[in-house]
Amino acid sequence: MVTLEKTEKTDLFSMNRRSFLKVVGAIGASAFLGLHRSEITKALELSKTKVIWLHGAECTGCSASLLDGGNPNVFQAIQKLSVDLAFHETLLAQQGIFVDGRPAATSELNTEILLDEAIEEGNYILVIEGSIANGPEGSGKYCMIGERTFKDIFEKAASHASMIMAVGMCAAYGGVNSADSDLKDLTDFRGVAFLNENPSRGMLDELGIDKPVINIAGCPAHPDWIMLTLAAVILGKINVNDLDSVLDRYKRPLVFFPASSSMHDNCPRRGYYDRGILDEDFSGEGCLLKVGCKGPYTRSDCGLRRWNNSISMCTQAGSSCISCCEPGFPDVASPFYEMIEDKPLINGMNVGTMSAIGVGAASVGVVAHAARRIIFNKDEKQEDEE
Ligand code: SF4
Ligand code: SF4
Repeated sequence: MVTLEKTEKTDLFSMNRRSFLKVVGAIGASAFLGLHRSEITKALELSKTKVIWLHGAECTGCSASLLDGGNPNVFQAIQKLSVDLAFHETLLAQQGIFVDGRPAATSELNTEILLDEAIEEGNYILVIEGSIANGPEGSGKYCMIGERTFKDIFEKAASHASMIMAVGMCAAYGGVNSADSDLKDLTDFRGVAFLNENPSRGMLDELGIDKPVINIAGCPAHPDWIMLTLAAVILGKINVNDLDSVLDRYKRPLVFFPASSSMHDNCPRRGYYDRGILDEDFSGEGCLLKVGCKGPYTRSDCGLRRWNNSISMCTQAGSSCISCCEPGFPDVASPFYEMIEDKPLINGMNVGTMSAIGVGAASVGVVAHAARRIIFNKDEKQEDEE
C-alpha cells in the first residue's frame, strides 16, 4: 500500500510511467501536488520543450487562471521557464509594427511571421484556448485574427504539432460559444476534438487531422490541471501515444476528473447534504442542491483541490456548482440556479424517474445521490465496454 510517508522519500520522477500513475492515483492528485510542487516547477524550468499557445474565440480566462495559479507560483515559473513558450499572444509583449504604412516583415517585429516560423519548425506542444469558428458555411470567418481565419491558423498549427492540449471548455467542447442560440448553427463553433459530447464534430475531424489530444475541462480550467498535465507530458509521465489509460472518454485526465466520483463527494457542504439540510435560498450554510447545485453530476476534484491557492471554491464561497467541467456546458447545466426536476439531467436521468425506481424521496438529496451513482455506474460500465 502506498502511503504519504513513503512517497515523500521517493523520487517520483525517476519512476516509470506505470509506477508514477499508480502512486499519483493512490495518494490522490492533490496530495501529489502538495508533496512534489517544487520538483514539478524545477522540471519545467529545466525543460526545453517548445509550446505554442493559441487563442481562438474565448475570454482569455484560462490564461488568467494559469497566471493566477499560486501552487506552484505560475507567474514566477513562467518567467524562469526554459520551456520555450514560442508563442502566446497574451504574454508576448511584441505587437504588429508598421513601417511606412506596411506591416514589418521580420519575426522580431511581426507576430504573424513569428508564429509561422515557429509552426514551420514543428516539434511542439500546441495549446489551444478558445473554440474554433467553422461558420459561415465552413469558411471560419466568424473568428478572424489579422487577415486570417482562426480555423486556417489552427489547421496549420495542428498539422505540425506533436500533440494538442485543449485548455478550457471552449477549446475542449465548444463551451459558451456553441451554447444554444439563434446564431449557433451559423457561427458553428467547434472544440478541438469535440462539439459538446460529440467527438465526430470536433474541428480535427472536420479538417481530417489525427493528433493526440488532452482536454483540460473547466470554465476556466484550474491552473493545477493545466500545469500538472503539461508537466506530465513534458516529463514523459504521460505517453502521448497511449492516452486511453489516463484519460476518460471525453479526453479529460482521470486524475483530475475521476470517472467514479463527483465534485459533490468532497464538497465542504456535504455534511449538510447528508443530514438533509437543503437551503431554499443563497447565503445560508446548508447544501445548495435545491438552488440548482449540479455538484452531484460533475466530475472534478474541485472539492478536494479547491481554488485560489486552495483557499476556497464555488460552493464554499456560497455559489452552487454550475457543472463547468462537463461536456455540453453551459446548456447541460442550465438554468444554473434551479434544481433539475422534470427536465432530463446529465445522461438522461430525471428526478421523476429516480423516484419511480424506488429510491424513495425521504430527502431530495438522497434521490440526487442515487441518481449520481446510477449515472456514474452507467458511464463506468460503458467505459469498460469501450
Ligand atoms: S449538492 Fe452541491 S452544495 Fe450540496 S453537498 Fe453536493 S456539491 Fe455541495
Ligand atoms: S465547483 Fe463546479 S462550477 Fe465550480 S469550478 Fe468546480 S466544476 Fe466548475
